[in-house]
Amino acid sequence: MIFPGHVSAGYLVAKVVLSMHPEISVAEYNKLVLLGAFSGWLPDIDIFYYFFKARSVRFEEGTTHRSYITHTPFFWIAVAFLVLLFTRSEVSALIMGLGSLSHIFFDSFGSGNGVMWFWPFSKKKVLFFNYVDKNPETDNVFKYYFLLFKDYLNTTTFYLEITITVVALLAIYFS
Ligand SMILES: [Zn+2]
Repeated sequence: MIFPGHVSAGYLVAKVVLSMHPEISVAEYNKLVLLGAFSGWLPDIDIFYYFFKARSVRFEEGTTHRSYITHTPFFWIAVAFLVLLFTRSEVSALIMGLGSLSHIFFDSFGSGNGVMWFWPFSKKKVLFFNYVDKNPETDNVFKYYFLLFKDYLNTTTFYLEITITVVALLAIYFS
């Protein structure tokens, strides 16, 4: 899944958690919704490190940023505990934790070769659909991303992405 789906999933997670906390003020509510949307994307922050390490803005065959610990549930549960420790806000920690876990969950739907759900106990990757990204062969970076995206449009994950994004947009519209 890519940016719109992840952000939408994080947003929806925040809405669900907040629906159980009617005591939260409007200002706080808006901040927490943003935190959820941001947390839904957050694990992909490791992509900058991946590109930096590869000295390239392309994905190299056989390597993926989803092999980093920043794409494991364990890591984000630990971060959520740190958020709880420093903010003393259970709602913030829960939204941050569940938002980033939604990322890990949706990355398991045919993204590369899956996610290490059981790290640090096992490095085995879990993949719900058997779809593996093809790496386009072109020297042009723009064409590379265009081909990558075109390929993505033919996957089941793309329909999942559209669905989540539409649900989030409807939730924004009706809220
Ligand atoms: Zn990801």
